[in-house]
Amino acid sequence: MATNGSKSGNGGLILVIGGGIAGMTAALEAAEAGCKVVLVEKSAYLGGRVARFHQYFPKLCPPACGVEINLKRLKNNRQVTILTQAEVESLSGSPGNYEAVINLAPRYVTDACTVCDECVKVCPAEVADEFNYGLSKTKAIHLPHAMAYPAKYVVERSACPEGCHACVDACSYRAIDLTQNAEKKTLQVASVVVATGWAPYDAAKIENLGFGRCANVVTNVMVERFAAASGPTAGKILRPSDGKEPRSVAFVQCAGSRDQNHLPYCSTVCCSASLKHATYIRKLYPEAEITIFYIDLRTPGNLQNFYAKVTAENKIELIKGKVGKVEEDPANKDVQITAEDVLHGTKIKRNYDLVVLATGMVPQTGGLPAVLDLDEFGFVNNVNTGVYGTGCVKRPAEVSATIRDATGAALKALQIAVGAEHVGVEQHG
Ligand SMILES: Cc1cc2nc3c(=O)[nH]c(=O)nc-3n(C[C@H](O)[C@H](O)[C@H](O)COP(=O)(O)OP(=O)(O)OC[C@H]3O[C@@H](n4cnc5c(N)ncnc54)[C@H](O)[C@@H]3O)c2cc1C
Ligand code: SF4
Ligand code: SF4
Repeated sequence: MATNGSKSGNGGLILVIGGGIAGMTAALEAAEAGCKVVLVEKSAYLGGRVARFHQYFPKLCPPACGVEINLKRLKNNRQVTILTQAEVESLSGSPGNYEAVINLAPRYVTDACTVCDECVKVCPAEVADEFNYGLSKTKAIHLPHAMAYPAKYVVERSACPEGCHACVDACSYRAIDLTQNAEKKTLQVASVVVATGWAPYDAAKIENLGFGRCANVVTNVMVERFAAASGPTAGKILRPSDGKEPRSVAFVQCAGSRDQNHLPYCSTVCCSASLKHATYIRKLYPEAEITIFYIDLRTPGNLQNFYAKVTAENKIELIKGKVGKVEEDPANKDVQITAEDVLHGTKIKRNYDLVVLATGMVPQTGGLPAVLDLDEFGFVNNVNTGVYGTGCVKRPAEVSATIRDATGAALKALQIAVGAEHVGVEQHG
């Protein structure tokens, strides 16, 4: 396939925005079919939300499995150019012939970095560790996480004390350049895949569920980091108020989702995620009481088998009923839940050591070029014939469905790219 010389000058190039599992899949599928791809990721590393999980449902294997395989394929594929700390400022043109302007934030660390960690030892400034959802601190110069790809340090420059260059002095490889500036890149591309994913709904907005007000109310994404050996509690799920092991844990489903005041839609995966989290608790604390409060437990398709296995093996109490109120006992910081038990027609008031809110997914479209068509909830509608949304920015979904969807998006983008490539193309070879 020729990759140079089209009239539009884009050489059939595909732009993929977002380097989570959806974007990595789309980039790889298009590249392995022979197209050139530029993968633009806002953060300093690839992998998106999945990189922060402890385990994947339904198999309960470490996410490293899926992410690592894709990273290996990416490293071996010279058709893909990866730009991290990058965002698309504008996109103009039409299918087959777009111009994208990309902003690249400075990393302040060059390719000469050998990941020796000497700079971190001398850095005096601490910042909230974004990878751990702010549950721990890291240094202003840091590796985004232990398995990060690219395996390059990055400096959170806004946290550096005035005039400090301790890291520069400590680096024997001259890999730190604190004078780096932001850059702009303009690309001619044939088609675009938007894979910018999701963010957890802000639990503090659901006032009756106590997040931010009750110390021992946490969210589902926080549980992933607590459970991970590389996380802020080295794999222990503990009560934030006193660091004690919880003897009772309640999960509150549809925390924000299926609620006209918050997210009117079902976030699809949070029931399976809570079942997965119940297995984390059971493994750590064989005697703990585990309750899931739900409206309906939604585990579509094959995930029904996951539901059946987890509930059969893990002694979980399932209560059908919406949680109305979550309050803290000031004496011991226990969390009191008030809910209705729909099947028994009763009202329940119970205390738990720890409460996990199964917060929903919000599509991430902030800062994206205006060419996108969004539905009433903010998810991307695929109406443009050269710009395709995929993954959770299109609809909430589990990883396997995301991968299938991203493969489809790659195929659509390829059709445009190959068409563009053959408009007045001088064929090479
Ligand atoms: C609590 C919880 C647990 C879950 N557990 C599982 C599980 O065990 N198994 C499973 O199959 N599914 C699970 N899921 C679902 C899973 O998280 C999604 O299927 C998956 O993250 C979708 O990947 P994505 O690439 O679409 O989005 P993301 O993972 O969100 O990746 C999007 C990427 O785009 C980047 N980005 C965002 N905006 C921009 C921008 N403007 N420019 C450039 N880059 C940008 C982000 O930094 C990120 O790297 C879970 C979901 C939740 C809520
Ligand atoms: S920036 Fe320098 S000191 Fe820091 S990890 Fe890289 S090589 Fe080591
Ligand atoms: S310049 Fe910034 S990153 Fe480097 S040591 Fe000082 S505070 Fe840390």
